Amino acid sequence: MATKRCYYEILGVERTATEAEIKAAYRKLALRYHPDRNPDDPEAEEKFKECAEAYEVLRDPEKRRIYDAHGHEGLSGAGFSGFSGFEDIFSSFGDIFEEFFGFGGRRRSRGGTRVQRGADLRYDLTLEFVEAAFGTEREIEVTKRETCKTCGGSGCAPGTHPEACRYCGGTGQIARTEGFFTMRTTCPYCRGAGTTISDPCPDCRGTGLLSVKKTVAVRIPPGVDNGSRLRLTGEGEGGVNGGPPGDLYVFIQVKAHDFFLRDGDNVVCQIPVSFVQAALGDEITVPTLSGETTLKIKKGTQPGDVYTLRGEGIPSLKGRGRGDQLVQVLVKTPTGLSKKQEELLREFARLEKSKFSNKVKSFFKGGDGRRKDAGDHDSKENG
Ligand SMILES: [Zn+2]
Ligand SMILES: [Zn+2]
Repeated sequence: MATKRCYYEILGVERTATEAEIKAAYRKLALRYHPDRNPDDPEAEEKFKECAEAYEVLRDPEKRRIYDAHGHEGLSGAGFSGFSGFEDIFSSFGDIFEEFFGFGGRRRSRGGTRVQRGADLRYDLTLEFVEAAFGTEREIEVTKRETCKTCGGSGCAPGTHPEACRYCGGTGQIARTEGFFTMRTTCPYCRGAGTTISDPCPDCRGTGLLSVKKTVAVRIPPGVDNGSRLRLTGEGEGGVNGGPPGDLYVFIQVKAHDFFLRDGDNVVCQIPVSFVQAALGDEITVPTLSGETTLKIKKGTQPGDVYTLRGEGIPSLKGRGRGDQLVQVLVKTPTGLSKKQEELLREFARLEKSKFSNKVKSFFKGGDGRRKDAGDHDSKENG
């Protein structure tokens, strides 16, 4: 049997190290030798297992006492044989890794002494089109669970402490041996917390958390769009036992605008003009996001022509520059004409007809000629 290294030496702590020091030392080593960071590295794997074993013993007051008094032999005499592999380690330490690697969310344990980060929250916020374009400040009301001030999140009545669970001895897990296999399951008595509270905090009833309504100021930067997500660090639910709070995520929805459509950082709109304006050109007033501006319509503008107003679009969310406003021209056909107007239009049509038919004649002449040539060429080849 290979000689085992001293557990204190493995974790690099003094024999008098506190629980917190041992945990901190293990955290550092577990992160360094974690298999996800050291794929296919047998040396790291060995170290990772060694550290886990050392920590498994030193975090447990009873095992630590046996080890201090009788060393490795004492432990194997008490039935402790370390871990068989990664799976064994992760099933035993799963929640500790969750904590080490900073994953959010609530854990299955309630009211235990283990440090827990608060859960992240989601809030859906609907903004007016222009608010999204230029940014705004909003106060939102969030209902969330905050760390109970009476007990500081421990869940214990003031002056009392949680006790190690008698059923599982504080490990939060129960080892059951079936044949050659040792199965570890969550302790049903403490629900994995490893501790029980005999005297729960009267305010939070032992949960360590209290439901509160809180008003949070949200600064919305210019340029947000549907699906933009803002993170408010620390505005999520409260942590337990000194754990940090979660984050609040604000998901943005933007209301449609009557006049503007958004296309990335550009805004698109349609402006009706009379056919006379389109034909002769004109200056028209166009609404913009920030007011209005004058747009010169060129002589001979066609329906659907698009004019660009540079820099009248949405400010870029990246903080640099602005999109454009694209103005599409709709040409209206006049209705309700007076007699005089009708006469003028007929006159206009007569002039237009002769001009137009001349053009058409010349077009078909050319076209006919070409098509005939092509046909002749074809028939020659076939014959
Ligand atoms: Zn238990
Ligand atoms: Zn409380």
